[in-house]
Amino acid sequence: MTSSFLLLTFAICKLIIAVGLNVGPSELLRIGAIDVDGHFTVHPSDLASVSSDFGMLKSPEEPLAVLHPSSAEDVARLVRTAYGSATAFPVSARGHGHSINGQAAAGRNGVVVEMNHGVTGTPKPLVRPDEMYVDVWGGELWVDVLKKTLEHGLAPKSWTDYLYLTVGGTLSNAGISGQAFHHGPQISNVLELDVVTVGKGEVMRCSEEENTRLFHGVLGGLGQFGIITRARISLEPAPQRVRWIRVLYSSFKVFTEDQEYLISMHGQLKFDYVEGFVIVDEGLVNNWRSSFFSPRNPVKISSVSSNGSVLYCLEITKNYHDSDSEIVDQEVEILMKKLNFIPTSVFTTDLQYVDFLDRVHKAELKLRSKNLWEVPHPWLNLFVPKSRISDFDKGVFKGILGNKTSGPILIYPMNKDKWDERSSAVTPDEEVFYLVALLRSALTDGEETQKLEYLKDQNRRILEFCEQAKINVKQYLPHHATQEEWVAHFGDKWDRFRSLKAEFDPRHILATGQRIFQNPS
Ligand code: FAD
Repeated sequence: MTSSFLLLTFAICKLIIAVGLNVGPSELLRIGAIDVDGHFTVHPSDLASVSSDFGMLKSPEEPLAVLHPSSAEDVARLVRTAYGSATAFPVSARGHGHSINGQAAAGRNGVVVEMNHGVTGTPKPLVRPDEMYVDVWGGELWVDVLKKTLEHGLAPKSWTDYLYLTVGGTLSNAGISGQAFHHGPQISNVLELDVVTVGKGEVMRCSEEENTRLFHGVLGGLGQFGIITRARISLEPAPQRVRWIRVLYSSFKVFTEDQEYLISMHGQLKFDYVEGFVIVDEGLVNNWRSSFFSPRNPVKISSVSSNGSVLYCLEITKNYHDSDSEIVDQEVEILMKKLNFIPTSVFTTDLQYVDFLDRVHKAELKLRSKNLWEVPHPWLNLFVPKSRISDFDKGVFKGILGNKTSGPILIYPMNKDKWDERSSAVTPDEEVFYLVALLRSALTDGEETQKLEYLKDQNRRILEFCEQAKINVKQYLPHHATQEEWVAHFGDKWDRFRSLKAEFDPRHILATGQRIFQNPS
């Protein structure tokens, strides 16, 4: 009774504000009138919690209301109302809010659908061991998908480095990590989706066989064509343990030759994960993903002379079952013989599969304990064509970055033939391309080179350098300011992207935080 009264009071306050903002009161009344099994909230703490994201780069912007759905039908009811209103209003699905540039926001006149937080009644992951797949709610965290599938000795094949991201959120981008060279991104490992679209106003099932255009469009579709409420993810038998190895290089050429060699291997004898990162002068101090180089590994990074220059670290793993612990030693030895790293620089550890996959969460906990997690993150993720990666190294790693990075810089190659060209995800036009991820954190009371404005300016200079040097990079987790830039981003895929939008979200109400199309009409 008390909570309903509070809700009503807040709703009236919001109504008054909304009228001031030129939003028709009928829209708000309609929201109130939508009969959902979950619930709408306008509580200030709920509005505040969806008004910012991991990037913390934009001023928080509170939506009109938040929907905590408990079924796909709840989402469909909201979407139908938003679309059918005289003044259509924005609706954005929010996964875990781990975007950088407000991509999951709905704006002051919109409603955010909290796909993950505090959802009750949404379907739990359903594993089908006989068919080797799991059906999951779109707002499920990958870490929970992993826990559930491991109960059956199974696991998804393709991952992100961090598991506290939602299925719908990563599938709207691509979902990549060191397994992508072999299994493709997460979007290449989806069998079926349920999607709430606007154009059809209903939950649509789509797959390779059914509603194919929508299926491929939604994968990597930046939330533009519908809200993913269920995904069917392909599984494999889960390994039990992981041999995790890091080796160093002082030559970028040798480093990338080895990485490219490793991702060309697809037989039984191959590493299961290939990544890498760049270490500039400050060494590993600022690299929150470097706990690996712990006191248990006695070789000091400083003992590997780099003459004050840049070092490159290759990171590889071999998965195995407990019963294969002897074979894994031999396999790793054979594979390592083909590589040309600095011989004294081998760092090895061995751990459970789940601990390897969940490794970044441990870094998160450490940073949180030092109040260094909830800080602005001016991240820049780029796909760089293989033919220009050495120019990028010279211009950026050895040039623009100077000797301070303010966070990890990942670099690893992927094979384009593992990406389905029919998806909406955009990659460079070459058979092999690299992810370069500049994962920096800004500090208000740090040195000049750690400040937000400095890092943002550096990002701008990196993009400018690529443009001037004609390195055809594509942004991953893209953020563009104008439609002209979006058209260039999508290239050949733009016409199809635009026509999917016209078919499935004709009034432009979905995922407006991506700022690709004009706001609702
Ligand atoms: P949100 O940020 O909440 O949403 C992202 C976009 O998807 C928004 O436009 C939103 O409207 C839309 N969306 C969300 N849910 C749905 C849905 N159910 N249906 C339709 N649209 C939806 N990415 C990688 O690929 N590999 C990595 O290794 C990786 N590591 C990361 C590590 C950290 C610490 C962080 C913060 C991010 C990392 N990411 C990585 C990026 C991540 O993939 C993106 O942030 C992505 O947006 C997923 O985050 P989210 O689930 O919080 O989605």
